[in-house]
Amino acid sequence: MDFNDTDVEAAYREQVRGWLTDNAAEYREPPATPWKLDEFIRRSKAWQAKKHAAGYTGITWPRAMGGQGLTPMHSIIYGQEEGRYHAPSGLYSIGLGMCIPTVFTHGNPEVVQRYVPKALLGEEVWCQLFSEPAAGSDLAGIRTKAVKDGDDWIIDGQKVWTSFAHASDFGIVVCRTDPSVPKHKGLTMFIVDMKAPGMEVRGIKQMSGGSDFNEVFFTGVRVKDSHRLGDVGNGWKVALTTLMHERLAVGGKPRHAPGYETLMKLARGVEAPAGGPAIEAGDVRQRIAQSYINDQGIKLTQMRALSALSKGQIPGPEQSIAKVVVAKTMQDMASFALDLAGGDGFVTGADGDPELAKLQGSYLGAAGLRIAGGTDEILRNIIAERVLGLPGDLRPDKDKPFNAAA
Ligand SMILES: Cc1cc2nc3c(=O)[nH]c(=O)nc-3n(C[C@H](O)[C@H](O)[C@H](O)COP(=O)(O)OP(=O)(O)OC[C@H]3O[C@@H](n4cnc5c(N)ncnc54)[C@H](O)[C@@H]3O)c2cc1C
Repeated sequence: MDFNDTDVEAAYREQVRGWLTDNAAEYREPPATPWKLDEFIRRSKAWQAKKHAAGYTGITWPRAMGGQGLTPMHSIIYGQEEGRYHAPSGLYSIGLGMCIPTVFTHGNPEVVQRYVPKALLGEEVWCQLFSEPAAGSDLAGIRTKAVKDGDDWIIDGQKVWTSFAHASDFGIVVCRTDPSVPKHKGLTMFIVDMKAPGMEVRGIKQMSGGSDFNEVFFTGVRVKDSHRLGDVGNGWKVALTTLMHERLAVGGKPRHAPGYETLMKLARGVEAPAGGPAIEAGDVRQRIAQSYINDQGIKLTQMRALSALSKGQIPGPEQSIAKVVVAKTMQDMASFALDLAGGDGFVTGADGDPELAKLQGSYLGAAGLRIAGGTDEILRNIIAERVLGLPGDLRPDKDKPFNAAA
């Protein structure tokens, strides 16, 4: 494992730092109050256009797709440097991180030409319409159906947990086109216009107070056959392209998540039940030490993935290991920090202490992080099967026709 940048990486980091110093000054500090949705979208679009003009979008994408044709390390370096700022992030992570790579891998040339440049520029926002009320971990069990009608397909069904559907112009949707074959074989993927007749997006209120994801209902929604991604019945393979990008994206610690330093600061400022500063109490010191150990473990595991990327290799299952540990550690740390804060740790309104508000946000958000992009149990199954070589999970419906398996 090599912790240092190569000469090429160091030069790129220097260049990115210089550009951010000149262009991201307004995002040096977090916003005093969280942006409302309209403001977040306006700022996200402006920031994406600025980055695009400077050559910091689609860093790893092929040049033919408008990308920079650079390595994953370049992209990670850019992310690390931008992560020092509080520029609006997230609106494009699903679209540009997962949907558009799927579009340019499996779409026909006209579709690629129509959608990819506008997405990269940030003019159009995309969402991922995969999960359903009865299909999440078992994604191949989806029931939303698409039926051929002349040159069109007609889609009926329901998706759920669709992040940013309410802000999206387009989405990629996986549908069942043949229920008479085993579940993985009867799926097909399409591009869908989120404003098409028959589409209905209903927001879901989260316990954090935010409303980032949605239910999406399809009633007789028409999609042109030209908007099919990949062959009919090949949707599982197409979905794997998206999921591979998702797994790479969700392994790391979220930007600005609190670390053990936050616990140290809080423990110095509050009194232990037995008297004296909490930082002097043995059980508090023990918890902080454990947080530090977890933090270092996460950092080193991520360095293993970065080292592999830097050498042009594909990271192994360490991404699954990192994700299981990151989400749980974030939840435990935030929970302990809120305990330390005592009465002040109760969830407060917009006028509360911004540091505590951030901890509360981490605590409430960590539960979702343990589910999105693969639940803890599914990731443990992956580690058990692919790393430890243990016997596979039971999959009794694997080879049965979908409509006979239920
Ligand atoms: C913040 C967030 C954002 C999301 N954004 C999107 C999005 O943009 N688009 C989208 O399509 N989806 C999105 N999702 C949905 C996400 O992909 C699913 O929630 C996830 O795949 C789990 O599926 P599920 O909720 O149906 O739970 P289920 O699959 O029903 O799981 C329920 C419980 O059973 C356990 N379980 C299931 N199968 C097994 C097994 N084989 N072995 C052991 N335990 C098992 C799970 O671990 C879990 O604890 C998002 C979710 C979150 C939390």
